[in-house]
Amino acid sequence: MAGVTPERLAEVKDRLLGRKKLLWLEVKEQLKSSIGDGYQEMLATARDEEDQATVSLMAETSLTLLGPKRLELEAIEEALQRLENGSYGLCEVCGQPIEPRRLEIMPETPLCRGCMTQREKLAKATAR
Ligand SMILES: [Zn+2]
Repeated sequence: MAGVTPERLAEVKDRLLGRKKLLWLEVKEQLKSSIGDGYQEMLATARDEEDQATVSLMAETSLTLLGPKRLELEAIEEALQRLENGSYGLCEVCGQPIEPRRLEIMPETPLCRGCMTQREKLAKATAR
C-alpha cells in the first residue's frame, strides 16, 4: 500500500467508525419514526454491535427513505473491511491507488476518480 502510513490508516478508521456510528443513530431514528411501535420489538434482536442484524432488518423493511444512508453505511462497512485486509486505498476496479485527496474527502470510496467517472457515465446511460 504505497503512500499510506499506519498512522494515516488509523486516522481513516477512526473517521469511518465515527461516521458509521452517526449514520446508525440517524437510521435508527428513522426506523423508529417509520415503524413506530413495532420498532422496539424488531430491534430487540439487533443489538448495537450486531450491525448485520440491523442491515437485514433494514433490507426487510425496505424503506426507500433509508436508501442513501444505507448505501453509505454499506460503503463504510466495505471500507473498514478493506482496512482490515490491507487493500484500502486501492481502486476496486483498476487496482490503482486512489488519489489521496479523493480519500481525504470520501474515505469510504472504493473507486479512483477515473473509474468513478466511468461508472457514473454508465449509470446515466442505463438510466435513459
Ligand atoms: Zn480505478
